[in-house]
Amino acid sequence: MTNGQAEFERLLEEAVAFHGHLCAGQVLGVRMAIVGLRKIGIRDPKGDERKDIMVFVEIDRCATDAIMTVTGCKPGKRTLKIKDYGKMAATFVNLSTGRAVRVRPRNDAREKARAYCRDIEDESRAQLQAYRTMPDDELLETKEVAVNLEAGDFPGKPLSRVRCEACGEAVMDRKEVKMNRILLCRPCAAGADYYSASDRSE
Ligand SMILES: [Zn+2]
Ligand SMILES: [Zn+2]
Repeated sequence: MTNGQAEFERLLEEAVAFHGHLCAGQVLGVRMAIVGLRKIGIRDPKGDERKDIMVFVEIDRCATDAIMTVTGCKPGKRTLKIKDYGKMAATFVNLSTGRAVRVRPRNDAREKARAYCRDIEDESRAQLQAYRTMPDDELLETKEVAVNLEAGDFPGKPLSRVRCEACGEAVMDRKEVKMNRILLCRPCAAGADYYSASDRSE
């Protein structure tokens, strides 16, 4: 086993412990994170370089947990942002150099995986096994990207705190919107996208 493989197995074990089971998403997430970190030049994401990294994930499924464990990035630390596009992709940003890379499984990764594990009959087991061993460039596609970071995206003390003039609730980090010179939270301005008020009040 090479150093790289041993490191992968160690990170996969950590991811599985955090996530609760071994699945293709853990394997993919760990591999995406390893490649992403390497491409942006981060070696010690949970140590010396923990303040130099931010990750955007585009799906709220298994792989996101693996990406969290490998990178140490967390929503509560404001270093992991979930963009709920339903797409298996993640972008790794080096905040000190500005370098960013978006990583995703190649469109033909599933078909390629089949060729790697023909001896395993069960398709999902074969896929999981293949994802562990396929070379990076057959499994993943990486692209340099420019990430638009807003001042309100960074960790640290809240940048601002204003009160929505419609609902009266506080809004932090310049996430409010201004309509006709009135400060509003986004749900009041555009409608909440995940809840609606019920008639019953507690
Ligand atoms: Zn899973
Ligand atoms: Zn409001």
